[in-house]
This record gives sequence, structure tokens and C-alpha cells, in this order.
Amino acid sequence: ATGFLQQNDPPKIRVVVRKRPLNQKERDLGEADVIEVDTTDASLVVHEPKQKVDLTKFVEMHQFCFDTAMNEDVTNDQVYSFTVQPLVATLFRGGKATCFAYGQTGSGKTFTMQPLPIRAAADMLMLLAHPQFASVALWVSCFEIYGGKLFDLLNSRARLETREDGKKRVCIVGLKEYNVEEVGEIQKLAEVANSTRSTGVTGANSDSSRSHSIMQFALKSTANPSQLVGKLSFIDLAGSERGADTYNNERVTRLEGAEINKSLLALKECIRALDSGQGHVPFRGSKLTEVLRDSFVGRQARTVMIANVSPNSNSCEHTLNTLRYADRVK
Ligand code: ADP
Ligand code: MG
Repeated sequence: ATGFLQQNDPPKIRVVVRKRPLNQKERDLGEADVIEVDTTDASLVVHEPKQKVDLTKFVEMHQFCFDTAMNEDVTNDQVYSFTVQPLVATLFRGGKATCFAYGQTGSGKTFTMQPLPIRAAADMLMLLAHPQFASVALWVSCFEIYGGKLFDLLNSRARLETREDGKKRVCIVGLKEYNVEEVGEIQKLAEVANSTRSTGVTGANSDSSRSHSIMQFALKSTANPSQLVGKLSFIDLAGSERGADTYNNERVTRLEGAEINKSLLALKECIRALDSGQGHVPFRGSKLTEVLRDSFVGRQARTVMIANVSPNSNSCEHTLNTLRYADRVK
């Protein structure tokens, strides 16, 4: 059972892309699938339909390479083994790991992200059953960042504040944490978090695509719960297109858009700065990076970014934006 603890630490930063299948609605509209994945060399090509001034149509091709490129036939279990499973061993060596889902609304972030913590928890609990880890316990918490503010998803959306401790660590004051011993408990907590996740306050326009949702696991010593052994975070990011909201004149919406844009840019800058291993890391650029700071820093910190893309021709512009963002992260 502890076999995979022998695995080496994966690279500090991995960027993978996942294409979802064309859905029925898109097929009914006669939309083309414009993404061609080559799983053998982890590359993909976007065939962007274009029009010249004289209205002649042509296709512009854009090629990208990542650490892994997942086609629409890849299962969630396979996604887990490509992305998060290699990080579990890192945690049991006292490391930290963070997994992001990035992409436009409807590209499959939540579909991709939701099963991952459950699978990871199953693997962690299996290892914790081993006598070697008798003094380690698993804790879980969930919160949301909406408009730069934090809300506890396991405590009726209670508003949370951050505070910096003496060691320059940002802590979230009053965040509820649950000690879990069975996968079933985690499943239940994930359902609670999911139903508590913001449906917004502005009515028709609002949905979960405007918030970042975070699920964190902490491995702690049972003798001294303030002693952290390992930390694993899952972040279902706000819809990447939200950062560029311009169609809506509502003031609230524009402020939200600006906030989302700021946090996604800050995230990219932080990951890049950490990867290069030098220079100033702009954690304070947003609430998102501020609260994740602790998970990012250190020799044993690992990050995996899953870029989700929609295959339909109408999403081409957003798809290219997502792939360029993911490309810049690496
Ligand atoms: P997002 O969270 O990025 O807004 P969702 O995860 O909600 O997107 O996905 C949008 C829709 O597409 C959902 O109905 C989801 O079930 C479906 N979907 C997403 N990815 C896949 C996939 N890989 N295979 C099948 N259906 C998918
Ligand atoms: Mg979603």
C-alpha cells in the first residue's frame, strides 16, 4: 500500500491541458471541433476559423505543447493519475501541493476538479491506515473567494478574514476544519461545500463562475495538531472569461471582473516567479495568491495547473486565451 511513497517528487510545476467533448447543443448547432490533441507528444493544435476583409474564409493554426495533453476520451480517473496522484507521496514527505483548474465557464473545470479531492483523500486515508503514520490525521476545509472576500463553505458561508502571523504566514481566522477518517465523510463535506458555493447576489447574471472555490487537506500530527505534516489544495478557479467582462454595465459586475482579472494575473505571475526561483514573488497581488502563499513557497512545494478547453468553434477565442495563459505559466 505504501509502494507509491517511493515515487520521486514530480517537477515543481506541471501544466496539463484537458479538452472536453463537443456537447449535444454544440453538435445541434453544427459547430465544428477545432481542437486536435496529439497525446504522444503532449501537443495540441487549434484550427481557428477566420475571415479576410474580402470575406474569404481560411483557417489559422496555433500549436501548443504542455507536459500532458488530454483528449476528450480521457476519464477522470486517468486525470487523477496524471495530475494529483504523483503529488500524494510528496505530501507524506512533508511537502505541499496545489492543483488548479483554469478555463472559461463551461470548459469542464468543475467536472475535472470535483472527483480529484475524493480520489486523493482515498489514497491518503489508505496510507494513514499504515502503522508508520499512526500519529498523522487528515483535516479538510473549504472556502470561496468572491469579489476578493473569503467565505467558509463548511460554515454557512461565514465571512472570514486573513491575518499574518509572526512568521509571515497568512492564516484564515476561524476557518472550520474537519478531521476526517473515511472517504464517505469527505464526500458529504464536498457536497455541503458545493451547495454552499456562491450563487451570487445579483440574480440572473450570477453563478459559481465568478468565484474561486478552494478545498484544502492538511496532514497534521495528532500529538501536536499545530504541526503541519503536509498540505494539498484544490482550486476551481473563476471562469477565465470573467476577467474580461465588458458586456455588462452593472457596476458590481465590472468590479467583480476586475477582481477576477487581478487574481488570475497575480496567480500567473506568482507561479512564474516561483518557477524561475528568483526575484520578487507578488503574493500580495490578490486575495487568492495571498491565501495560497503558504502552499506555494518552499523547496517541497508542487503545483499542477489543469487548463480546461472547450472544443467548439465559437469558443476559439477563449480557448486560445486559456492556452496562452497556461503557456505563460510554464
Ligand atoms: P466549468 O466548471 O468550467 O464551468 P463544467 O465542469 O460545469 O464547466 O462543465 C460544463 C458541462 O460540460 C457540464 O455539463 C459537464 O458535465 C460537461 N463536461 C465537462 N467536461 C466533460 C468531459 N470531459 N466529459 C464529459 N462531459 C464534460
Ligand atoms: Mg464550474
